[in-house]
Amino acid sequence: MNREPLVVAIDGPAGVGKSTVARRLARRLGVPYLDTGAMYRALALHLLEHGIDPEDRAAVTAALPEIRIELRVADDGRAEVLLAGEPVESRIRSAEVAAATSRAAVHPEVRQRMVTLQRALACRHGGVLEGRDIGTRVLPAARWKFFFDAPPDVRAERRLRDLRDSGAESTMEVVARELAERDARDRERESSPLVAAADAVLVETGSAGVDELVDRLAASILGRPAAGA
Ligand code: C5P
Repeated sequence: MNREPLVVAIDGPAGVGKSTVARRLARRLGVPYLDTGAMYRALALHLLEHGIDPEDRAAVTAALPEIRIELRVADDGRAEVLLAGEPVESRIRSAEVAAATSRAAVHPEVRQRMVTLQRALACRHGGVLEGRDIGTRVLPAARWKFFFDAPPDVRAERRLRDLRDSGAESTMEVVARELAERDARDRERESSPLVAAADAVLVETGSAGVDELVDRLAASILGRPAAGA
């Protein structure tokens, strides 16, 4: 029998804990995990390294044919993002790259390129895909769609922790401002804005722990109700 690969869409703004939950959920379900934000970040890294203004649609579109972004499913199940054949993870987590990313991500040509790669991966291997437009645009027919949200102060705290863990220094005030700016760009852009799909399950992550969230999502996907869910 030909079974459709299992695909799960998780969307939401920055700092709601999507990555941690998606990574662990994917491991539980035995499918790859794809952080689609990392793909947009890789593209922004290329633009920054080549002095291309991420807001300049014509310049970004002209550069696209030279920007080689690929996905490689690693042994641990993570779909690794490669830029020009090299892993980018250690170079894409700065605030500078984040800001350039949300500027470049508004261009429809950029989005089209990413969506094609994301669909190819999901179609071939299945996966837990996490981002901003997975349930609305990338995989609108996905059976499992979740939209995560949390209060702004919780999100800023989480993002500050992530930045510090990656060795960067910042303050709550700066992080909160950067998040608000990035959110506004993501929510207000014309092409695939950040919005919950009409059929997504809304998940409030402000007060729930990672284990609890992974258990709840896995239970609803695997068809067993979690206690209290
Ligand atoms: O999730 P992360 O914070 O790494 O995403 C970085 C940026 O990439 C977002 O602020 C957004 O502008 C863009 N993005 C997007 N669509 C996605 C994933 C990320 O536009 N599916």
